[in-house]
Amino acid sequence: MAFKNFNCPACGAPLELEYRFSQMVVCPYCDQTSHLAGEGLEAQGEKVKLSDYGSSFSVGATGTVFDIGFKVFGRIRFEYPDGFWDEWLLRLENEPEKEYWLQEDEGDYILFEKSETLPENPDFASAKVGSAMRFGEFQIFISEKNTAKIVGGEGELPHRVIPGEQADFVDGIIYGKGVPTSLEFLPNNQLAFYYGKKAVTLSDFKFPEKPENPYTA
Ligand SMILES: [Zn+2]
Repeated sequence: MAFKNFNCPACGAPLELEYRFSQMVVCPYCDQTSHLAGEGLEAQGEKVKLSDYGSSFSVGATGTVFDIGFKVFGRIRFEYPDGFWDEWLLRLENEPEKEYWLQEDEGDYILFEKSETLPENPDFASAKVGSAMRFGEFQIFISEKNTAKIVGGEGELPHRVIPGEQADFVDGIIYGKGVPTSLEFLPNNQLAFYYGKKAVTLSDFKFPEKPENPYTA
């Protein structure tokens, strides 16, 4: 059910937004990225069509994960010198207020939950791979530090980014818990902290709308 209806500022197509925390939308007809601004949309940056690698996920897809209904609202793609990865924005029906992200990287999946609290004054420059960092209540062992480019998005997203902008990442593990974490430094001081909700594989997701394999019946 739509919470807001817009028209794409580039091509005029009707755009229905369903995710009430959305800050931007990518037009499915012309691939224009737009930010919510006042009562309307403002076109931002170049039109970018993400190349399709045949993911099992897509914007608008529904299904269940661990018997909980989910819906995919958006996708964002990041690129680094050796490749790219996607993050899918998911809403779970039992926790509609929470923001979940499914990271898909060469067939590996991690389901992240956005933390409602942020670490205090996290500093990308001083984060050091192989050392520990205190992030609020968490002690994080830093396993990776990266600067990536935002290739573009699809659907609705809860932040405001423009294709081509830079994003910085500090990934790590919560000490004593083995939980993967990711601290995202997006443009314009948009900061988000995510921690791994559950280790997932593709087979944990069920897509009921897909036809059953007739040979397993
Ligand atoms: Zn459009």
